Amino acid sequence: PRKLLIVVTPTYNRAFQAYYLTRLAHTLKLVPPPLLWLVVETEAQSLETASLLRETGIMYRHLVCEKNVTNIKDRGIHQRNVALAHIEHHQLDGIVYFADDDNVYTLDLFEEMRQIRRFGTWLVGMLVHSKSKTILEGPVCDGEKVVGWHTNEKSKRLRRFHVDMSGFAFNSSILWDPDRWHRPSVDPIRQLDTVKEGFQETTFIEQLVADESQMEGRPPGCSKVMVWHLHLEAASGLLNHHHEQTNNM
Ligand code: UDP
Repeated sequence: PRKLLIVVTPTYNRAFQAYYLTRLAHTLKLVPPPLLWLVVETEAQSLETASLLRETGIMYRHLVCEKNVTNIKDRGIHQRNVALAHIEHHQLDGIVYFADDDNVYTLDLFEEMRQIRRFGTWLVGMLVHSKSKTILEGPVCDGEKVVGWHTNEKSKRLRRFHVDMSGFAFNSSILWDPDRWHRPSVDPIRQLDTVKEGFQETTFIEQLVADESQMEGRPPGCSKVMVWHLHLEAASGLLNHHHEQTNNM
């Protein structure tokens, strides 16, 4: 039987929300089941998202992060934690993937995810809109072995793992592995509350794996871009004026 894919998408109300969610729903609909889409909104379920989800035909759960998110740097942290708590609570057995609503995903990516034993990572094409260029972020591999990271100079020395939020997926069993994910002794929500901008991914991954030897580069050789992350820097002021610029590039 095929492994369950648990796709976690934090989303929030803004001008492009329906555009992004519709596009992502179409992609997910083409992925062979079983797939469970955990869509997490803040404060309350929006009617628009609820009706969009009802009509997709995808197996989904529409979750809400009730925490009053006042920190503009939050960027979906609490929503992802709500989804993790849901997965833990219901002991959902599958491969967990954080799929932001605004990225574009190939179907190959979901096929590769199903091969993951414990923790898989791959390249992400970061599209820097204002400069009209693509920067690769993610593993340099020798077969499945992760031997280094593609990154950009600015962050090279600081982050332990140079992985984008959409550049990894993991077996949910890690969440109940007492040697790795230390819940409930460490509350990931509190832990991630203080995370510096751009450090969300590495801080999270450091709780899942000890080092590169516990990672699987996908596909072997890691030379394929299967997901693109769009950075709408120039336009972000127009798109979500109440959010601070998040330019980690
Ligand atoms: N997001 C959210 N609330 C926010 C900011 C972001 O739910 O206040 C979601 C957004 O819908 C997307 C993901 O978090 O699914 C990543 O957002 P974005 O691409 O804007 O952040 P970036 O990765 O570019 O910093």
